[in-house]
Amino acid sequence: MFNKISLALSVTLLLNACATSPTGRTQFAFMPDTQLNQMGLQAFDSLKKETPISSNQRHTQFVTCVSNAVIREVGGNWEVVVFEDNSLNAFALPGNKIGVHSGMVNFVDNQDQLASIIGHEIGHVLARHSNERVSQQMAVSSGMALIQAVSSPQTAMGQTALGLLGVGAQYGVLLPYSRLHENEADKIGLDLMAKAGFDPRQSVILWQKMARAGDGQQPPEFMSTHPAHATRIQELQNAMPRALEIQKQAVAQGKQPRCSK
Ligand SMILES: [Zn+2]
Repeated sequence: MFNKISLALSVTLLLNACATSPTGRTQFAFMPDTQLNQMGLQAFDSLKKETPISSNQRHTQFVTCVSNAVIREVGGNWEVVVFEDNSLNAFALPGNKIGVHSGMVNFVDNQDQLASIIGHEIGHVLARHSNERVSQQMAVSSGMALIQAVSSPQTAMGQTALGLLGVGAQYGVLLPYSRLHENEADKIGLDLMAKAGFDPRQSVILWQKMARAGDGQQPPEFMSTHPAHATRIQELQNAMPRALEIQKQAVAQGKQPRCSK
């Protein structure tokens, strides 16, 4: 059985090893997406069991309102959950799952800053960054065991699997996204928020605010998986004229989200 799976994976590897990301970058991502989605669902289930879901109606409505406006530009069915957790964190998982901690809801000043986060996180999923991370890990070790381990967050390999999915911080393991992945998620996220009619300039203000929060003794969880590289803000600013043009067109089409917290 195991050999059959290995063989099937090897064949898939040969067929799919070179994929292209939404920004046109060649990727080494050979895992079947159904497998990654399964891992995402499993990880999300564990998180839902371990972290209380927010009962704050205003938080939930705010996050749902912003997420829905961004998701409309992407399509598909997404599950959005606000977790009652004061740490500054948010994430999206393969299988279309979005989690936002109440700490992040309190941190953002407005809908546009939350849209920057949601857009960025969805960007990681659309660009299949978890697939790349898992593919790279599987190329060096562990094979099928890594996929199965996602359901055992208490084991070392389970923590690695969750880390590769971008939710390791919740289990004490830090596997930061690479600079390449961060830039790509920023680009996709900026376009997405602008297409939804949000103000893309707030993304710069958000990351400046995030960098200040990261100066403290204990950098927020979000900063550990999404390191604020010095070039991030500069690159967002470079992309701003185009993003503002996209937002202008969205507003002309009547897309003017009004989500308040
Ligand atoms: Zn990121």
